[in-house]
Amino acid sequence: MRQSQIADLWWKNAVVYCLDIETYADGNGDGIGDFRGAIQHIDHIERLGVTCIWLMPFFPTPDRDDGYDIVDFYSVDSRLGTLGDFVEFMQVARDRGIRVIADLVVNHTSDQHPWFKDARSSPDSTYRDWYIWSDKPEPDDPKGVVFPDQEHSLWQWDDEAGQYFFHRFYRFQPDLNTSNPEVRDEIVRILGFWMQLGLSGFRVDAVPFLVEDVTPKDGDLPDPHEFFEALRAFMNRRDGSAILLGEVNLPYKDLLRFFGSDGLGNEITMCFDFIGMQRSYLSLVRHDARPLADALRERPDPPKDCHWATFLRNHDELTLDKLTDKEREEVFEAFAPDEGMRLYGRGIRRRLPTMLGGDTRRIKMAYSLLFAQPGTPVLFYGEEIGMGENLDIEGRAAVRTPMQWTPNLNGGFSTASPDKVRTPMPKGDYGPEKVNVSSQRRDPDSLLHWMTSLIEQYRECPELAWGDYEVLDVEDEAVLAHRADLDGETVVTAHNFADRDATVTVTLKGCDSSRVLTDIIVEGTLQLTDDGEATIKLSPYGCRWFRVSTPETAPAEADGAT
Ligand code: MG
Repeated sequence: MRQSQIADLWWKNAVVYCLDIETYADGNGDGIGDFRGAIQHIDHIERLGVTCIWLMPFFPTPDRDDGYDIVDFYSVDSRLGTLGDFVEFMQVARDRGIRVIADLVVNHTSDQHPWFKDARSSPDSTYRDWYIWSDKPEPDDPKGVVFPDQEHSLWQWDDEAGQYFFHRFYRFQPDLNTSNPEVRDEIVRILGFWMQLGLSGFRVDAVPFLVEDVTPKDGDLPDPHEFFEALRAFMNRRDGSAILLGEVNLPYKDLLRFFGSDGLGNEITMCFDFIGMQRSYLSLVRHDARPLADALRERPDPPKDCHWATFLRNHDELTLDKLTDKEREEVFEAFAPDEGMRLYGRGIRRRLPTMLGGDTRRIKMAYSLLFAQPGTPVLFYGEEIGMGENLDIEGRAAVRTPMQWTPNLNGGFSTASPDKVRTPMPKGDYGPEKVNVSSQRRDPDSLLHWMTSLIEQYRECPELAWGDYEVLDVEDEAVLAHRADLDGETVVTAHNFADRDATVTVTLKGCDSSRVLTDIIVEGTLQLTDDGEATIKLSPYGCRWFRVSTPETAPAEADGAT
């Protein structure tokens, strides 16, 4: 693989880091995070090795759904800064070689958006057909309600309009009518605007909902996939390397369509692997690698110029909707034993370290796996230091507490008096006194150092992100071993899900005793037999990454970092 190709397809071995400006760092001391604060901490993001920042919504909003209810797609919420601050943030990121993408939330607007206010005011409004109206509510599919504890219908009566309007999410978030060409034109304008200001792409919220057929007159709807094709085509005319990162939580066979029909790969560039993520948790609970190994074997290859995005946690609840009822119950019992830790009967509102009982070995192994498995890893801010959640905060927001920078006032997030900080940090073992960036920077055994070194190795092993991969057969069900190959170079990894030692023998086809396996994460060199067999020893919850090479071209062994 030529370096120039790797640069063009930068997203295939990117490290994406999702952050919310509102909770990352407060630069003006008013208790609310802002762009100035984030600018001051961009060196932390650079040191970690992140290559792409994903910004959660920062647009003007009444903030009834954490910024996902937008009233102006062309500006910055005044609490978070100005458009000028945004441009400065982009400049500082670019200076560090870091790309930036942002949430594109165009499934719906806030009901306070001027478009909706105008639309509801009269049937003759220019904006009336920008939303979805009906004289009588269409029959609801109960599975279609996203927040079943708070909404019972997809249709809301509007007195002013004298009609029902459609809302997939909350009733204050009317869905935009994406079958209207004017709406589609406007969405393209929104993309163009932010790309002009330097964005390298967008994370597309709620993809399947964005293009669903809901109107009574669905006969005249264009193919929903044309919508994404048009978006991708527009975006790549402006910038050939820009991406769409899609939230598409569907079974693999249905999801493939969103990469583009007929395997063309001309729609969503990267889709999150929700199934692999959920199986990872099942594997962690069972101390058994097979659920994840099966998912990796079943997972179809995305079309050329498309890719999987992998993750362990994100800003939402940990959804377990693709597991069977019994499997989900197993994960609930182990990782969310109290009812208050669960959400909507399908997810968990906790972060990874608390679910794993703070067991550092297990946490480090889980992240090693995230970077080793094929796909582009996406981190949620705070994962790099093992932040916990605050269950006193309602709903999904439990995992959206402010970033913990220091052990001091407000965890270094803000200089405001603590009562001004809207979202309280966790207390106790996961409070900023115990978990923060500045202490971990000084501790070579910290999670922060571990993550930094994993990212460094991942970036040096394009085989992992780009290559062909094969889950290797091993005797021990607790161990996941896989190889990744690219241009004649091979990397092998092994992960032990059990709290005991494990030894596995792997056979590497096409390799013989002229090759050695050099551990690039911990230490040790293994010799292959004539048949390409290697015996790998793993400590409890251990993980190892090896580069396969001749002894003459082997890299230096790691110096025993843990
Ligand atoms: Mg502020």
